[in-house]
Amino acid sequence: THFGYETIAESEKEGRVRNVFSSVAASYDTMNDLMSFGIHRIWKDEFVRALKPGSLHSVDKGWNILDIAGGTGDIAFRMLDYATNVKNDSKTRVTISDINPDMLAEGRKRSLWTPYGGTERLSFLEANAENLESVASESVDLYTVAFGIRNFTNKQKALEEAFRVLKPGGVFACLEFSKVQNSLFNAIYKRWSFSMIPIMGQLVAADRDSYQYLVESIEKFPSQEEFKNMIELAGFIVPSQAYENLTGGIAAIHRGIKP
Ligand code: SAM
Repeated sequence: THFGYETIAESEKEGRVRNVFSSVAASYDTMNDLMSFGIHRIWKDEFVRALKPGSLHSVDKGWNILDIAGGTGDIAFRMLDYATNVKNDSKTRVTISDINPDMLAEGRKRSLWTPYGGTERLSFLEANAENLESVASESVDLYTVAFGIRNFTNKQKALEEAFRVLKPGGVFACLEFSKVQNSLFNAIYKRWSFSMIPIMGQLVAADRDSYQYLVESIEKFPSQEEFKNMIELAGFIVPSQAYENLTGGIAAIHRGIKP
């Protein structure tokens, strides 16, 4: 592959992923819109709608949500909006956690344009998803990770950490690129992404390599069924409808419940 990921040391991969996201932090939103024709916004809305974050009863303490690889806050802000506006819950809070301080800084900046910036409903944590030592065991109601886990060096370890920090009954939820189900659509999609995305990266962000990495990381990520098995291996109960395909499987939502 471009970076020869199979052969480089794990610690080195971590460093390279860090560089990729440092170099794209500022142009991140523009590129997402361009590459997905804005569809990533619909997927993120659907993800949050499916999770229905927040308490319905005003006596409750609200949910404690951990948004892993939360980057610029896209998922966190949507979840707080949902809790506030749909559930009438102004206590639910989100910790945006990311390995990359530049992405977190971008998120912090963006949070100032939301009602949550600088309030106790939103906090930031620089951490590797594979080792969340500063997060107490059984302290989290909902763990989310959107377009993050495919970048992790040891995905199974991250799933085990998710399991540890969740309360019994807590939910693990992942939105990630997945495998397109229809073979004709898949052929078109692959052609498009392998040829166009690195070019767009070059033109818009002057960074072809980072976007080349992006398409390769999507290609290597496990299929819907394989990822479901990894979630189960970490100890989660997977609901009968184990995953939801979005746009023909370009992305998928997976869920697991901690027994
Ligand atoms: N969740 C956001 C969204 O949906 O827009 C951001 C997704 S962005 C594609 C991937 C994020 O994963 C980056 O912010 C990157 O820094 C973060 N990341 C990569 N490896 C990580 C790790 N091991 N632990 C935590 N975050 C990581």
